[in-house]
Amino acid sequence: WKNAPPSVRAMVENSRAFGDQDFLVYDDERLTYREHFTRVAGLAKELMETYGIAKGDRVAIAMRNYPEWVIAFFAASCTGAIVVPLNAWWTARELEFGLRDSGAKVVIADQERLDLLGSVLPELEIPAMVARPTKPLPENTRDISTVASAEELPAVDLDPEDDATLFYTSGTTGTPKGALGTHRNICGNVVSQVYSGVRGMLRLGHTLAEVQAATPAPMVSLMAVPLFHATGCHTVLMGAFERGGTLVLMYKWEPGTALELMERERVTHFTGVPTMLTQMYNHPDFEDRDLSSLTVMASGGASAAPVLVERTTQLLPAAAPGNGYGLTETSSMTTSNRGIDYVIHPDSVGPPVAICEVEVVDPASREPLPIGEVGELRIKGANVVKGYWNRPDATDEVFVDGWFYSGDLARLDDEGFVYIVDRAKDMIIRGGENVYSAEVEAAIHQHPNVTDCAVIGVEHEVLGEEVGAVVQTKVGSSLTDEELRTFLADRIARFKIPTRWEILEDELPRNAAGKLLKREIKTHLDNAGETTRV
Ligand code: ATP
Repeated sequence: WKNAPPSVRAMVENSRAFGDQDFLVYDDERLTYREHFTRVAGLAKELMETYGIAKGDRVAIAMRNYPEWVIAFFAASCTGAIVVPLNAWWTARELEFGLRDSGAKVVIADQERLDLLGSVLPELEIPAMVARPTKPLPENTRDISTVASAEELPAVDLDPEDDATLFYTSGTTGTPKGALGTHRNICGNVVSQVYSGVRGMLRLGHTLAEVQAATPAPMVSLMAVPLFHATGCHTVLMGAFERGGTLVLMYKWEPGTALELMERERVTHFTGVPTMLTQMYNHPDFEDRDLSSLTVMASGGASAAPVLVERTTQLLPAAAPGNGYGLTETSSMTTSNRGIDYVIHPDSVGPPVAICEVEVVDPASREPLPIGEVGELRIKGANVVKGYWNRPDATDEVFVDGWFYSGDLARLDDEGFVYIVDRAKDMIIRGGENVYSAEVEAAIHQHPNVTDCAVIGVEHEVLGEEVGAVVQTKVGSSLTDEELRTFLADRIARFKIPTRWEILEDELPRNAAGKLLKREIKTHLDNAGETTRV
């Protein structure tokens, strides 16, 4: 952490050194570091002078993955404001919640979000700046492209402990909560990311010079996940920005387009949720694309079946496979498993990153458990946010004595590798036996005709819960629950084998970050009646 820049503003200042290198690529648009800096400086000045933004004010961004998202993020950060990245998949009502909850003073939006916010903005008296307007703009709204560029950032004193971001949690388990992060959280995360990338090589006895020689220059990263989630912003965007890398933005996820961009732009780093990797590997274009530039193929954000690392090493032998675990509350990365470490421990999310420590504790007493036992994972370090915005009760529940209680069930091995067993809320208790949904999902994923699956608890009169599975199969492949049960019989214990099945070719519902919406899937299975019962 001592080597980290003190603030996002300092990172922006440092980025001047990258001059004419490409920073942002979107469709056929390219923006160099120099152009980006002058637009950030101009917008920061405008936010302060015209909109009266000062340290601690909230500036909301409601936009898809456009270059303007990035410019808005850095400009607002340089003013000392707290940036509030709103989920671009949200409905008008949800966006309104985000604006009200954060008390945003200005919103920087794209046309679609501006349309959704129609009457809300005048009512809340929030002015808007708009990226890529396609219609005449209403009152109190300004086209962001008309803001003049500037050569210097406005003078603002920032401390690592100053508030920087308010990211809303995904809301997969309840109402989204705003996690209040500091400049230290963001900058610390960037430093530990660089270190985690080379840790595997250092552990194998390589020297720093060898590590440097093996590090690709320049880095080209595909932005396949939304910028408005912690992984997109803190890991993918910041990871590229700190190193003078190029960021290739995708408006929305589509595996064929991702493959095309990876070939065209000679992408070196890919980070996405595990299903994205599977979708690319199963895509008809995969074999025809030249992906030889890839040096890192990483997933995170949701549990990755161990077969995924095997497929990655087979299909892309030159790329280091990766798996990162983290939460909005830990500014993204908490553990990282990379390269040879991941191949050796395919079911682990790796050891904690350099700036944090983890422990496994008894969920009830919160006392540490012996190595190997399953309990709740707690995290302490420079990446852990201060707490939840305006939610003192929720904060006190999970931020205690410097530790953040993740709600994830995990175990540790004696080398310090973390194994995520399940989310506490996803664990199924079948007649008193614990069934970890992630373990059953990993076993189902081993079947070659399975594209995706979700395992959930379904209410049962006698057992309390029984195990249900919704499985997406490869198009055109016939697969029955009978075959899947036989397949699982010698892989997992009988009581873990799902008794309720639904097998389909449709995609399973996922949120903007690509996470399974288990609550939605559960309602679906609950309503499926007895037909699928075995
Ligand atoms: P909410 O708390 O509102 O329900 P969320 O927890 O889904 O939202 P995030 O902070 O984006 O929102 O997700 C963090 C969760 O994602 C972790 O608690 C963990 O359960 C899961 N997760 C993240 N990375 C991994 C990984 N590599 N392997 C397994 N699970 C992961």
